[in-house]
Amino acid sequence: MYIDTHCHLTFPQYKEDQAMVIGNAKKAGVKKFINPGVDPISCRLVVDLAKKHPGVIFASVGFHPYEAQEIKDVSLLESLVKSSRPPSRDPNGFRVKPGMTTIVAIGECGLDYHQYKGHDALGRKENQKQLFKLQLKLALEHNLPAIMHCRDAYEDFFGVLDNLPNTPRGVIHCFSGGLQDLRDAQKHKFFVGIDGNVTYSKHLEMIVPHIPISMLLLETDAPFLTPVPHRGSRNEPKYIPLIAKKIAELKKITPREVEEATTKNAQELFGI
Ligand SMILES: [Zn+2]
Ligand SMILES: [Zn+2]
Repeated sequence: MYIDTHCHLTFPQYKEDQAMVIGNAKKAGVKKFINPGVDPISCRLVVDLAKKHPGVIFASVGFHPYEAQEIKDVSLLESLVKSSRPPSRDPNGFRVKPGMTTIVAIGECGLDYHQYKGHDALGRKENQKQLFKLQLKLALEHNLPAIMHCRDAYEDFFGVLDNLPNTPRGVIHCFSGGLQDLRDAQKHKFFVGIDGNVTYSKHLEMIVPHIPISMLLLETDAPFLTPVPHRGSRNEPKYIPLIAKKIAELKKITPREVEEATTKNAQELFGI
């Protein structure tokens, strides 16, 4: 069994055939999904989807760094987390069997300084850091792991984390850092998520052999980052085995070992 620890099933790319996409992934052995929100609308959608698929699709609620210009507080995330928690006691004070939790993480949150043609993220850096810190604090308060996004910003990313008294458990999703960033991630006991770009990125080919299997998670980031040989078309969680196969090749172990270890890691981090 595989777990896709990061896919965006509520994005418009799946508007027509979301149920089929989920069904095809299950046929390919991908039995559980973590579905992170990125903005207020998608956070509500991921919670609704998780409620419809208890024990199969789990929500993570967070604000992507691109939202940092508009969003200054995390009250929506907090109220979603509070309302998703099943009560552990009934009104008479007796313990009740907890229902299936729908929100298993905070995120995606983090820093993204990537510069598109003519647009740079410079003016937003302080806002991004502020929004990231608020979400790390929320994750700690609710004892949830953080799903963290970091692009072209590793120095500030670890700067933020190193300056906090405590950091939550978490994963650096779509890991693109170098060896020093990997060591910093290890220092914080973070997991790192590897995506379909491992099938064509020379950088990841160099990095992946250095990542201990005990810190690896599989993710598609679907609909983005489609792996070889499907590049150019929409990505789907059913391609998770292609990512596992490539990681196995790079680490000189079997795909089965990658499957078992990454599933165990995901279960441990998200409690699913
Ligand atoms: Zn991301
Ligand atoms: Zn994402």
